Amino acid sequence: MEEKIYYKSTRGGQNGISASEAILKGIAEDGGLFVPSRIPKIDLKLKDLASMNYRELAYYILSKFLVDFTEEELKYCVNNAYDNKFDTEEIAPVVKVGDSYFLELFHGPTLAFKDMALSILPYLLTTSAKKQGLEKEIVILTATSGDTGKAALEGFTNIPGIKIIVFYPQEGVSEIQKMQMITHKGKNTHVVGIKGNFDDAQSGVKKIFRDEEFLKTLEENNYVFSSANSINIGRLVPQVVYYFYVYLKLYSKGEITDGEGLNVVVPTGNFGNILAAYYAKEMGLPINKLICASNDNKVLYDFISTGVYDKGREFFTTISPSMDILISSNLERLLYVLSGEDSKIVKDLMDNLDSKGSYKINDVMRNNLKDFFGGYAFEEETKKAISDLYNKDKYIMDTHTAVAYSVNERYVKASGDNTKAVVVSTASPYKFTYAVMNSIDNKYADYNDFQLVNEMSSLLNKEEPAAIKDINKREVVHKTVCNKEDMKKAVQEYLNF
Ligand SMILES: *Cc1c(COP(=O)(O)O)cnc(C)c1O
Repeated sequence: MEEKIYYKSTRGGQNGISASEAILKGIAEDGGLFVPSRIPKIDLKLKDLASMNYRELAYYILSKFLVDFTEEELKYCVNNAYDNKFDTEEIAPVVKVGDSYFLELFHGPTLAFKDMALSILPYLLTTSAKKQGLEKEIVILTATSGDTGKAALEGFTNIPGIKIIVFYPQEGVSEIQKMQMITHKGKNTHVVGIKGNFDDAQSGVKKIFRDEEFLKTLEENNYVFSSANSINIGRLVPQVVYYFYVYLKLYSKGEITDGEGLNVVVPTGNFGNILAAYYAKEMGLPINKLICASNDNKVLYDFISTGVYDKGREFFTTISPSMDILISSNLERLLYVLSGEDSKIVKDLMDNLDSKGSYKINDVMRNNLKDFFGGYAFEEETKKAISDLYNKDKYIMDTHTAVAYSVNERYVKASGDNTKAVVVSTASPYKFTYAVMNSIDNKYADYNDFQLVNEMSSLLNKEEPAAIKDINKREVVHKTVCNKEDMKKAVQEYLNF
């Protein structure tokens, strides 16, 4: 018998934690992230998995990681998450455009791939709370670069025993993303704009999580914090599923043969999505290269090419705002694997990042990084990718997907690697209408985001998604804005203590 999977902190401070406890806590007490004691292997042949639908596959993959959940509990979570709130029975369809494959992860209620994990997290979390006998009210504290916020609000609204607070960078999200959040209704929700960027919001949230005195006051008021950010292992694991799904779909359609290598190209910010692809590979899925695509904030490209991670650099606000990130939190989980699960090394690197703003990995770790390729696309390249593909195939990519598409084109040219590749499509173009439509034609320069929803819908000859229909006409219900230093105060005021 193989040893049962438990969870531990990447920094060594906690060990022997059950999956439900790790999901509930969100982040380890020593500031590290929870990781499984080993990455489980699949015990069925790909051929046998190929007949499963999305829910069946999700149950199979999740049961490998979340071993303290019963079959009944997990099926309850999976079946409530992946239902008709997605606009297609396939949940994560793969689309062939020319010679390219796109894995469309934006068919959920908020039109971005965050729905893939955030539609199930509330169920995993409330089930975990029940399993752990928790009686306090859970407060979800979340920083968003634009898409997590709305997806978390959607997932947690009106779930008994939960309140949710979302911090977003006031000037760093698209108009449509902002409207999606500040018009969100739900008694247990609170949305706060901060004067700062995503990294400020994320650091602020992490700081609150580690503020012992504040946590004590919180407890006394019968609350406990948890996180909906991708630092929560309950968000990472559901993302492994769609990598299996796309591979199996391509296999079933005869596009690839059993065991054939497949490259995945992932537009990356906090490193959660691409880490899930890496976990899928470690589980036994024949992924060849993991292509990590960045925008102008190319800290990950530099890291993969040099082994040095340096956040001390200029921050750019781009047309792919969900990737405007200089501190990719989930990279810590990869460092843990690359170091041969050495939490002392990880802790040292993270201490360096805190104190000096940078760190350098050793040669062994660098060598272990060779499955990854890092690339980036500047704004003009991203726009050109959108217009080229539209003109060639009448397919409209969003700006994040276009970063990945552009990086892959350059990678293929430079490397000559002719392995088939899947571009992970992380958002609907309807979330970023201004940047997308103006990439296609600059005659749209004087239109606003909302007018361009209609224009895009006529280009595509399809009605706009219900999720954003008339969004500019909805009532703004969340008007709070605060300085980045005052996030704690904002929490306190909302919780009323
Ligand atoms: C969050 C997000 C990303 C980045 O994903 P990570 O898991 O943070 O790397 C890319 N594209 C879109 C549209 C997103 O919302």
